[in-house]
Amino acid sequence: MATKKICLFLPKSEMEKPVIYHLVKDYDLVINIFRAKITAEEEGYLVIDVNGTEENIEKAMEYMRDSNVILNETNRGLQRDPDKCVHCGNCLSHCPTKALHIEDQRTRKIEFKEDLCIECLACVRNCPFGACYSIF
Ligand code: SF4
Ligand code: SF4
Repeated sequence: MATKKICLFLPKSEMEKPVIYHLVKDYDLVINIFRAKITAEEEGYLVIDVNGTEENIEKAMEYMRDSNVILNETNRGLQRDPDKCVHCGNCLSHCPTKALHIEDQRTRKIEFKEDLCIECLACVRNCPFGACYSIF
């Protein structure tokens, strides 16, 4: 069994399709929805964790590509621009999962472990330098 985080964008033309239903029913995947948003233009964004066999996950990805669902290559809505980060540490106490953390106490540089990120966006609200941002 494998788990994969996927960030998807559904154009308006695809919004009526029951994508999550097909992932569960046709590919036997367990879905955990982190974040979902429908824009004023009736487009949809979703960040989900899928759990299942690697083969079924790959087939499900093919199904989504064939359905004109756009898969974000980074597999996450939360992005971090290391060039904008000044390592002030302001985000640390706001990150509930320690996805943002200090690895080396000598350098005190802020590192990002994306596997731990639950897309709560607390860092986006608390980064004064715009180093953390969401694609939607
Ligand atoms: S608050 Fe922003 S600039 Fe400061 S350490 Fe966190 S990501 Fe970097
Ligand atoms: S979105 Fe939340 S969990 Fe992810 S890095 Fe930012 S504060 Fe941490």
